[in-house]
Amino acid sequence: MKLPGHLTVKDGHLYIGRHDCTVLAQEYGTPVYVTDEDRLRENFQRYDSALKKHYEDVQLLYAAKANGNLAVMKVFAELGAGADVFSSGELHLALLAGMEPEKLLFNGSSKTKEDLKLAVEKGVKVSLDSFDELRQLNKIAGDAGKIVEVSFRINPAIDVPTHPKIATGLATSKFGIPADQITDAYRAAMECENVVPVGMHCHIGSQILDVAPFAKAAEVMVKVAGDITALGVRLSFIDIGGGLGIPYRHETEVAPTPEEYADAVLPVFLQGIQKLGIKPQLWVEPGRNLVGDTTVLLTNVNSVKTAHKKFVNVDAGFNLLLRPAMYDSYHEIIVANKADKEAETDYTVTGPICETGDIIAADRKLPMIEDGDILAILDTGAYGYSMSSQYNCRPRCPEVMVAGDRSAVMRRAETVIDIVNTMKKLPWHEK
Ligand SMILES: *Cc1c(COP(=O)(O)O)cnc(C)c1O
Repeated sequence: MKLPGHLTVKDGHLYIGRHDCTVLAQEYGTPVYVTDEDRLRENFQRYDSALKKHYEDVQLLYAAKANGNLAVMKVFAELGAGADVFSSGELHLALLAGMEPEKLLFNGSSKTKEDLKLAVEKGVKVSLDSFDELRQLNKIAGDAGKIVEVSFRINPAIDVPTHPKIATGLATSKFGIPADQITDAYRAAMECENVVPVGMHCHIGSQILDVAPFAKAAEVMVKVAGDITALGVRLSFIDIGGGLGIPYRHETEVAPTPEEYADAVLPVFLQGIQKLGIKPQLWVEPGRNLVGDTTVLLTNVNSVKTAHKKFVNVDAGFNLLLRPAMYDSYHEIIVANKADKEAETDYTVTGPICETGDIIAADRKLPMIEDGDILAILDTGAYGYSMSSQYNCRPRCPEVMVAGDRSAVMRRAETVIDIVNTMKKLPWHEK
């Protein structure tokens, strides 16, 4: 199987960085997410320099929802990243990670007044998604005696080839201001006393494996930039969102590289802004592309069962990795202690959750499997832990970071006590 640079096979064992996955599984227990810090840095720097080769004034805003571990966000913060935050919680994470407020954009189509208050208090920019939100923010900023810089999320009405649940820029999507209301939105913002429109934002979807829709979105954005510049808006940033996919199927899937992405998108952007005679910062919000391939989920085989087909029952299910159940996603699997063995048997790998749909991988060719084997589920750094749950009263597993020779827990395992502690005895149940 084709493997990214940080994953190697030595003496039949899978390694992440310099660490034998079977040893990590022993040391930290299973299930466990393991992330390679060096790979995080590599991914960020590659993406950043691919864009900056075309245009110096680029700011990456890491999409915090892909992987909200503070250690991960700290690595990006150190490298100069800001963040796309989609909740007050993510805003707190970004600040705790050391990201500067000026490099944060508070996104979201359904923010509460408390969300808006927090954005005002912390001095972060807000991407507005409705006229109601504009009115609310103007009031909240006024009450606080502050001026808030905003963008609107533009709906570019672009059809993207990805799973329908993660296409976010369709004309029918819940996100963004539709084309025919955009100039009205900016005009309304200009009339607000406590709000200044300084940016534009869009995000067309996730796991997109073709650069054409991104180029199209950039074209729409610079066209709209022309309309709103004509209104008198001085744009300091244009944010074209994230969404560049990764090759989950290592043998057959081809994903555009960050360089190919930049080569397709930046010329469109640059031509557009040159024509308008403006020089806004370009903001880009990659999530998956920075973190997806950095992480493996190690899971122990509890049992193997031959029924109408062969089932491998492991200790990680959709409680820890929702993507296969939610998006029919594919993740490569390597038997970490038999990594050099021929894959010759079809297995369906299922988790411990009490649901028929708790399938990590269906009909997958793997080496002969026995209980006690350790499976490494690859490319689980994005939307893995961050979408996990405590379903079936299963405490979440730990997350471990490796960096060079070192390894350490970056999030401890939850316990049943953690779960039970948030529950309250009802007053009328007290004896
Ligand atoms: C989810 C999201 C992103 C990141 O998407 P990826 O596909 O992980 O790159 C960026 N911007 C916004 C607004 C998002 O909602």
